[in-house]
This record gives sequence, C-alpha cells and structure tokens, in this order.
Amino acid sequence: MPAKNLSPQDYPLPNARGRFGPYGGKFVPETLMPALAELESAYAAAKKDPLFWAELDELFRTYVGRPTPITYARRLSEHLGGAQIYLKREDLAHSGAHKINNALGQALLVKRMGKQRIVAETGAGQHGVATATAAALLGIECVIYMGTVDMTRQRPNVFRMKLLGAEVRGVDSGSKTLKDAINEAIRDWVTNVETTHYLLGSALGPHPYPMIVRDFQRVIGLEAREQMLAQTGRLPDAIVACVGGGSNAIGIFHPFLDDDSVRLIGVEAGGMGIETGKHAARFADPSISRVGVLQGVKSYVMQDKHGQIALTHSISAGLDYASVGPEHAWLRDIGRAEYTYCTDEQALEGFQLLAHLEGIIPALESAHAIGHVLQLAPTMPKESIILINLSGRGDKDLDTVMNALGTLA
Ligand SMILES: *Cc1c(COP(=O)(O)O)cnc(C)c1O
Repeated sequence: MPAKNLSPQDYPLPNARGRFGPYGGKFVPETLMPALAELESAYAAAKKDPLFWAELDELFRTYVGRPTPITYARRLSEHLGGAQIYLKREDLAHSGAHKINNALGQALLVKRMGKQRIVAETGAGQHGVATATAAALLGIECVIYMGTVDMTRQRPNVFRMKLLGAEVRGVDSGSKTLKDAINEAIRDWVTNVETTHYLLGSALGPHPYPMIVRDFQRVIGLEAREQMLAQTGRLPDAIVACVGGGSNAIGIFHPFLDDDSVRLIGVEAGGMGIETGKHAARFADPSISRVGVLQGVKSYVMQDKHGQIALTHSISAGLDYASVGPEHAWLRDIGRAEYTYCTDEQALEGFQLLAHLEGIIPALESAHAIGHVLQLAPTMPKESIILINLSGRGDKDLDTVMNALGTLA
C-alpha cells in the first residue's frame, strides 16, 4: 500500500477544541495542559509530513506484517446460512492484536518530539506489551505502571514486558488496579514532561488522544476497503467490531464513514446480561450509564446516581471499562454507527465456533463481534456481506476460557 494513503485526509472532527459534537474535549487539571498542547502541535506537524507517514508505513509493512489479510469464513458462513462473512485479520499483526498500530505510531511521534522516554499503564497487560514492543524496536526507555493486583493476575504479560526491556512499576495504592496505575503514569508524565511521553492505548482520554489513536488505527479500514473491493468486487453491507475504548472499531469504521450503504456496528460487552448490571455496555443501559467525564474526556460513563464510577464486568479485560471513546458517542448520536452488546456467554460461543469452523482462535474481545454476528448473519440474505474486525488472537485468553467453560459444564 502506498505510504500516502496512510496520511489522514482533512476530516472536520474533532474541532479545534477537541470536540466531537458535545463529546470529547480536555477535562484535565491545569498542570496537564502544557503537555497536551505540546503533543497537539507535534502531531499537527507530523500529520502534514509525508515522511512521517512513509516511515510508519515502512514499519507497518516490514515489522508488523501489514497489510493483514482478509479471510473469507466459508464454513462459518455456511453454518449460519445467511450473509457471507469475512474477517479482517488483526490477530496476525505482530504481537497479536491491533494495539501495535497505535503504539508504533505514537512511538515514532516520541522520536519526532525529541523525547527519550515513554510511560504507560496497563490493566490486563495487552497495551503494556504493545508499548514495550514499540519502545524496544525504536530504542526508547519504557516504564509501565501496573496495579499489583493486576500484576499477580497477569504474570506472563509482566514477564513479557520485562523481556522486552520495559520497567514494570507495581502500583500499591487504592484498589491496586488499572485506575490507580493510570494516576501514577500521569503523575510521572507531568513530573518528567520534558523527556517523557504518555502513550495512551485506546481512542479515549483528553484531546488530542482520541484523534491520534484513530488516525493510527485507520490503517485497518483503509486496507480493508481496498481488499474487499479487490476480493469481492464491492463494499460489505455491514462491518462489525468490538468496542472497549473503541480504537479497533474506529480504525476500521473511519474509512467507510461516507459509504452510506455500509452499516457500522459496534459491539460492547454485555457481561452477565444488561439486567444484572454486571456489564460494560455503556450505550445499552441508561439506568447506570449517561454522559459524564472520566479520565479527561466527556462521553458515556457508567456511574451511580451520585456520579461514582460503576463497577463494570466483562469476561474480556479489553472491553471491561466504564467509558467509551467520544467519537463513538457522536457517531451514535448522528445515527452513522449502531451499537449493540454481546454477553459473556454469547462471546464464548463465538470463540468456540470460530475455532471449530475456521481454525482461528480469536481474542475474547473479538469474540464479542463474532457473538453478535451469530445472530445477525442468519437475518441477512446469502448475497450480503459482513466484515468482522478480528482485533486480536486468543492465546492470551485460554486460561480464562478454560475456567469459564469448566464453570458452565
Ligand atoms: C485492547 C483490545 C480491545 C479493546 O480495545 P479497543 O480500543 O476498543 O479496540 C479489543 N480487542 C483486542 C484484541 C484488544 O487487545
């Protein structure tokens, strides 16, 4: 793919204040404003520089293994008896998921800013591993903050990050999980902003992060658009992607926004069912989810009536988050994208079915998109086409699935 295609065209959103309609923005303490302003101007310059995108394109091709292929899921399509199903194979990207696209893009930006150090936080470890991978490749010092409870739960990923040369700093305050790790990472960033970049992992956080992460993940949709035209002669009727913070979904959706014939469907984590309250379906449950501010950005947030952040649940760590990227909230408002959810149980069904019928073990996050398609495909005619964004591979989830199936059995 020619490098020029990666460079984002002029898209009007977010606006100069970082807003997507009423969502987005920068709701941060005064001490963070200079760091965000520096990042904004560095990215504005990089965005216009063809050499920046050419370098990223080269890394995508020679290191990540892009373009990732599109696979026709023949047996799954036949089994469901409706639409023809295609898979965009981000599970085949180096390190096993789409997260590397953003980590490498931001790491290149770090070099451009003349900084030598990256901080990030991680919950389940996937973003930490992607960040440590990009930092190793480009020779940047890397510190990953992780709650000590999460470190115990995710020992293999802690070891991976260390192998990749990152320093993993355990966070022992509060609940010793992701939100405490975020606080520590941001504290480090503000203290060391001269030398340090904060590498955010999803289409979330204060402006300009949702825009930057989207622009680095757009490669998924740019490739998919060309590949579908080449392989099937037309665009798909629907694109289905799981939505945690929203980066893999916005990445595949964006290049199709002007194609009105293509339905864009985001799938949130329905957990144990909406009625139980144990889920992370931010758009599905007005009783505990409404517009609010979390970690610097205005969007839908799961919260109690006093505005305390609600406890979320999902079988997949990557979807288990109380807020969702602001651009998704906007696309939903204007009716360009639709959002639904898939329960733990349906995701487990999708997980097993894809393994049995296609020889592909998906990430549990991606299995939510499959779980939804199990219901959607049979309602669509045989000539129609669904494209699923298979955001990652499932090796990391084998323990979880083994335990869950044991419980079910
Ligand atoms: C982290 C992760 C997700 C969720 O993050 P988004 O920003 O919503 O894409 C989805 N799939 C995989 C494989 C992940 O690792």
